[in-house]
Amino acid sequence: MQIYNTLTKRKEEFIPIDPSIVKIYMCGPTVYDYFHIGNARSFIMSDIIRKYLEYKGYTVRFVMNLTDIDDKIINKSIKEGTDASVVAETYAKAFFEDIRKLKIKKADLNPRATAHISDIINLIKKLEEKGFAYNINGNVFYNVIKFKDYGKLSGKKIDELESGARIEINEEKRNPLDFALWKKAKEGEPFWESPWGKGRPGWHIECSAMSCKLLGETFDIHAGGSDLIFPHHENEIAQSEAANGKKFVNYWMHFGFLNINNEKMSKSLGNFLTAREILKTYSAEAIRLSFAQTHYAGPLNFSDDLLASAEKGLEKLKNLADKIEEEIKLNNNEGNIPEFDFEKFGNNFEAAMDDDFNSPQACGVIFDFIREVNRAISGNENINTKFYFDVKDFLQKTAEGVLGILDFSGVLKQNDFPLENDLIEIFIKLRTDAKKEKNFALSDKIRDELKAIGVILQDGKETTTYKKAK
Ligand code: AMP
Ligand code: ZN
Repeated sequence: MQIYNTLTKRKEEFIPIDPSIVKIYMCGPTVYDYFHIGNARSFIMSDIIRKYLEYKGYTVRFVMNLTDIDDKIINKSIKEGTDASVVAETYAKAFFEDIRKLKIKKADLNPRATAHISDIINLIKKLEEKGFAYNINGNVFYNVIKFKDYGKLSGKKIDELESGARIEINEEKRNPLDFALWKKAKEGEPFWESPWGKGRPGWHIECSAMSCKLLGETFDIHAGGSDLIFPHHENEIAQSEAANGKKFVNYWMHFGFLNINNEKMSKSLGNFLTAREILKTYSAEAIRLSFAQTHYAGPLNFSDDLLASAEKGLEKLKNLADKIEEEIKLNNNEGNIPEFDFEKFGNNFEAAMDDDFNSPQACGVIFDFIREVNRAISGNENINTKFYFDVKDFLQKTAEGVLGILDFSGVLKQNDFPLENDLIEIFIKLRTDAKKEKNFALSDKIRDELKAIGVILQDGKETTTYKKAK
């Protein structure tokens, strides 16, 4: 299996330190707001990578931190007249709700910076003892010039950076590139006691301290959005390698940026979309497919067209899944088994994903598979259910298990809840009446409200049917 390593700038054979367990650290959200669709791309692609490693038989220990103390959180708490911890807790909760809706598997551990203050302090002490940190009036900085390899991840050179760096006002640092390990508390800010006085940790040191504590001094994969290569990940390397005297991470993976209609997403451009909002209109599967169809490392241009075409592509997958469910119910043990090369599709799927997680190619394999299955069953009325079990097995392992673009478990058996079904039919009738009266606001409301509780309406030429998702 090959992975593109940002550190060496080439694809490398993936060899985990311990052959049976892969250790991954992914930079998670700063919990001061709902996460946006750009963050969602990084979270979803890291989920696909994790699930593919599990598919390959590895046990994966996946750690994603939550930054729960930071300027943005403090600013929001001041604006809202509440505590920073309340802001962090609110958006941490929202984060977990949203990743669940996006079918992202929860990390094995989600460490929070404020729960690791003593680990952070110990790491800063170690850096201080080794001469990599200095304290100026309760602010502790990392001494970049002391770390010979500074710039090795981003390819930046210290002298170039220095000449380009803007000298900040009220600068106490020895060198403009030096960054804060510990920030002295300002009036009214949350603080923790430390050997340097009351204060709070800098952002970069959190990730060095928590990854070392939970995954060890050297681990396999560190991932994050490409915005983090410099300075965040460069600084993590400087801190961890200076403190431990060991290589920090073997493979650095970075997710390309998501733009909206070819523009950078930002609040000021008015094109800022939270994952929560987009989930009101599109399914998690469509969002995941639209991301998986672009390689994780490249830029991705997000648009309504992209999602609409993903929804359309998914129809083919859902239709086949429905057919499988029906056929399995029939339980036909006597029928014939069409000729079908399942192994070829399994090999193609793996070849794609083994090549630096080439998910666009892997999606192509899934759609080729659907086409060939449809060809194999067309005109054949007497197929042994065993064949459908094999089809289901393949899709469950790949489309559902790795890519997350299908959810077999989400299809509830319609007959299990007769009263519920009758009620849904009543709503469908009301909606049809509303449409006849051209009251589209009401008809859309009924459709959206039903969707929000997991009932998806499908308008046919004459009638409307529905499907239940979990
Ligand atoms: P943040 O909450 O901004 O610290 O970001 C959480 C994660 O999302 C990090 O791994 C970021 O690198 C990543 N990220 C932020 N913005 C984008 C974007 N527009 N496209 C892709 N990933 C992003
Ligand atoms: Zn980080």
